Amino acid sequence: MPLANCKTVTRTLSDKLDRALTLRERARVRVHLLGCNGCRAYASQLAALRLLAHSVAGHIETPSSQTDE
Ligand SMILES: [Zn+2]
Repeated sequence: MPLANCKTVTRTLSDKLDRALTLRERARVRVHLLGCNGCRAYASQLAALRLLAHSVAGHIETPSSQTDE
């Protein structure tokens, strides 16, 4: 299995937000993250962003036209 470079890994990590990764992709990312602080930071940032996006989407549902009181 060829080692993934940072570019591939970060792209795969953002792909993960849109689609399920294949087993091979997940394995490659996991192995790369073990040895790469930069990508590990990127991965945790993405995870935090996704959590944030989910909680925002869950709490803000009022359309902007109804905000003037
Ligand atoms: Zn990396």
